[in-house]
Amino acid sequence: MSRRLQAPRGTFDVLPAQSAARAAVESRARELLEAAGYERIETPAFEATELFARGVGESTDIVQKEMYSFDDGGGRSLTLRPEGTAPVCRAYAEHGMHKLPQPVKLWYLSSFFRHERAQAGRYRQFWQVGAEALGSDDPALDAESIVLLALLLDALGARDLRLRLSSLGAAATRNQYRAELQAHLRAHSDALADEVRARIELNPLRAFDSDHSGTRQVMATAPRLVDRLDAADAEHFAEVCSLLDEAAVSYELDSTLVRGLDYYTRTVFEFSSDSLGAQSGVGGGGRYDGLVERLGGPATAGVGWAAGVERILLAAGEEHPAAPPVELYVAIDEDGRRGDAFATVTAARRAGLTAQMELAGRSLKGQLKHADRLGARFVAILGARDTVLRDMQSTEQETVPADAVVARALRGLRGPW
Ligand code: AMP
Repeated sequence: MSRRLQAPRGTFDVLPAQSAARAAVESRARELLEAAGYERIETPAFEATELFARGVGESTDIVQKEMYSFDDGGGRSLTLRPEGTAPVCRAYAEHGMHKLPQPVKLWYLSSFFRHERAQAGRYRQFWQVGAEALGSDDPALDAESIVLLALLLDALGARDLRLRLSSLGAAATRNQYRAELQAHLRAHSDALADEVRARIELNPLRAFDSDHSGTRQVMATAPRLVDRLDAADAEHFAEVCSLLDEAAVSYELDSTLVRGLDYYTRTVFEFSSDSLGAQSGVGGGGRYDGLVERLGGPATAGVGWAAGVERILLAAGEEHPAAPPVELYVAIDEDGRRGDAFATVTAARRAGLTAQMELAGRSLKGQLKHADRLGARFVAILGARDTVLRDMQSTEQETVPADAVVARALRGLRGPW
């Protein structure tokens, strides 16, 4: 026998038992987001590598070590999309969406690819539902975006959620702050973890993420970006907070909140669930006012989020409904009637019933057992002499003309009307 092949590390098959739960995420997201004016967008599964290098940022973990990049054979470097915001901003600029009434609100549900160390809740191909609103810097849009994610997670039953919120200010404030933070880290460099010390120049903000005890002590006295916001950014952030208060969405202010992507300005937020293990992030996002411009489009404000479908399901942790029960099962007691069985199951489907027929050569006893397993309400038994319709609920059965099976089952299921 040849070696059995397996799905690549960090990937998974979505088996039938999981697909109902995933479909529920998609339909709840659609209902909620479309009711708030978001329209669905699909972008390609791969893009020019430069989109992510410029959009997500050269210094980020994603661009430095997690991208699946390849040469397309024509000397161009392409990358399987690791996130959705940069592609949506590219599409906004490419299709002149700045000429539409603003803000333009877009949502997506797609798979993304990151070459991360695979572990529970962290995959190399994973799904995100995301929402992006472009063309307005109104703090009410930040608040609306956050509230929509809160409502979605709530509707899907995600448990033990915490929302952390902060503001990164504008790019100039961040640069000044970055220099201040670097000076603080250099002054205490002996106490830092090696990897933090190595990244002082490249990405000093990530020092807030470290679990290393020496680093944590240094960070406890580090300057905080929220204390350095200019008046306009501070006012914007205060308005976002006050609108969340109005909407009765609770949050914690967390000035150490650092998102792994470079494009954020002003508001950043993250939902995590205490019922998940180490990979506790369920979804997050923020404002990215310069991003469209950075990708060659017009100066455009934007705010949005992405939430991991697998993490949402883990945080909801429920058994989800299986396939809908079969309304009519067509059993065959006489081989000569296979054609009738096929005609009956087809007529049932045309009439809108969930219907199946025997396809595995079982004995009649085996067929009735199988129909029971499928939760069948009615079973039509096509025998040598006649056709019997059995109501599995009441166990009553009656002989019916073969062409009346569907009408009888429909009457039994939906009543005489
Ligand atoms: P990010 O785009 O990094 O802000 O991630 C947003 C959300 O996507 C996270 O909160 C997770 O729920 C999910 N996510 C990110 N990376 C992965 C991954 N490798 N595997 C599964 N889910 C992920």
